Formats: sequence, C-alpha cells, structure tokens
Amino acid sequence: MISRIPDNYAPAPDLLRDRIILVTGAGDGIGRAAAISFAAHGATVILLGKTIAKLEAVYDEIEKSGFPQAAIYPLKLGGATPQDYTAMRETLENEFGHLDGLLHNASILGQRKSILDTSVSDWNDVLNVNLTAQFLLTQAMLPLLQKSTDASLLFTSSGVGRKGRAFWGAYAVSKFGSEALTQILADELDTTTTVRVNCINPGATNTAMRRVAYPAENPSENPLPEQIIAAYLYLIGPDSQGVTGQSFDAQMK
Ligand code: NDP
Repeated sequence: MISRIPDNYAPAPDLLRDRIILVTGAGDGIGRAAAISFAAHGATVILLGKTIAKLEAVYDEIEKSGFPQAAIYPLKLGGATPQDYTAMRETLENEFGHLDGLLHNASILGQRKSILDTSVSDWNDVLNVNLTAQFLLTQAMLPLLQKSTDASLLFTSSGVGRKGRAFWGAYAVSKFGSEALTQILADELDTTTTVRVNCINPGATNTAMRRVAYPAENPSENPLPEQIIAAYLYLIGPDSQGVTGQSFDAQMK
C-alpha cells in the first residue's frame, strides 16, 4: 500500500533547524535539490557523491544563500569497502557526533536490457551501487542515527520497485530491494530505537537519469526536482514522527 503525505503539506521555514542530514548523490538531480532544500530549512547537510566538482557547486550554492555551512564527503558507492564506511562513521562522529537523517538517493540506471541480455558485470554494478551500498552505509551510520532523539532514514524507490517491468532488470530489482530494506529495518528498529525508516518514489522527474531512461519523452513535461521536495522534507523532518515502514509517492495525482 502506498501512503500519502498530508494534503497541502507546508513545511515550517525552520523545520530542520540544527539537524545533521546526510544525502547521497547530492551533486545532481533530486539529491542536489533535496540537499539545498534541507539546508534552506536549517539543516547542516553532508553532501556525499562521486563527482567532487558537482558537490562543490552545491556546497557553494548553500554558502552563497546563507544557509548552514555544508560538508562534502566524496565517496564512490559500489566500490567502497566496509572499512571505507567505518572510516566515514568515525569522521562524521568526530565532526558532528550524531546524524538526524540519512537520505539514500544515489542510484545508477544500468543498461536497459532484457534479463537474458544482461551481463553479470552490469547486474553487479547496479546492485552494488543501488542496494549493497545502501546496506553498508546504513549499517555504518545506524549508531550515529541512534544517537539522535528523532532520526529519519529514507530510501528511494521507483515505480519499477513495486511492479516489475520488462527491460528494467537490475535497476528494478535494486528498487524492490530498497522497499524490502525499508520494511525490514523499520520492523527491526521499531521497538528498540526512535529511528523511523521509510521509502519514497519520486515519480517522473526532470533529471539526467530520467532523460537517459526516456529519451523520447519531452523532459519539460515532468516536474523539476525542486518541485517534488515537500514530500522529502516531510519524511526527513519531525513532521513524520511515528511514521515508519511505509512507502510514499512524492507526486500524488
Ligand atoms: P541523477 O542521475 O540525476 O542523479 C544521481 C546522483 O547519484 C548523482 O549525483 C550521481 O553522482 C550520484 N551517484 C551515482 N552513482 C554514484 C556512486 N557510485 N557513488 C556516489 N554517487 C553516485 O538521478 P535522479 O536525481 O533522477 O535520481 C535520484 C533517485 O531517484 C535515484 O535513486 C533514482 O533511482 C530515483 N528515481 C528517479 C526518478 C526520476 O524520474 N528522475 C524516477 C524514479 C526514481 P554524479 O552526478 O557524480 O554521477
């Protein structure tokens, strides 16, 4: 079942004041818009991604706007080892002490082929970036999230993460995996911590990934990332307290 954010949800200007939030894939697309919006609502945002120049541009935009100073954590998800994640936890613990939010947003599309034609290397690349990295990053960051009095862990799904479709192969499987991780973690953490765990499907959004996935589509018919961020603010911030184990659409018809 798909849950709805409250109708006409309007986040308070200081919704995320003093919160420390980690965003993966923060250099482009939805992750970039989420990071800037979280900062605009008062959060200190840790920008994780693989292209440093893109992360620096987001950092500069946040600084120029007068929002709380961000931090950059360059990391290639997929290639990173458990030791890399442990080192990251140590760095963030020294720097910030805890985390109030983690948005798992980074993903790759992989090749749009039938299962029959999918190479094992493409399968592994997609699953490593889109799913195994989420598992490893979650495992490493949970102790920091558990130090917060109100932490939110948010996974990113897709329409093909709820209903499989031809030629979406490893990408769709990885998104089904994100939905599963959400449910499993929510159940495991429900009675022992205050960490809530949910999943969001952004829906068709005008980003580089979308333009590659749907080359025949007119990109301007889809909303820009900035136009779908209210649902992310609701789920990452205190307004979703008590909501856990649920799957949301950012765009409700
Ligand atoms: P983009 O491709 O525009 O952005 C993806 C971001 O993830 C980029 O910043 C990219 O970094 C980063 N990234 C990719 N691979 C890695 C890696 N190995 N390590 C670290 N960072 C990485 O995608 P969208 O903004 O469109 O998508 C955001 C999320 O929303 C994804 O999970 C996607 O599956 C999901 N989604 C998007 C939809 C859409 O219509 N746009 C629809 C349904 C779901 P870099 O720029 O450096 O490559």
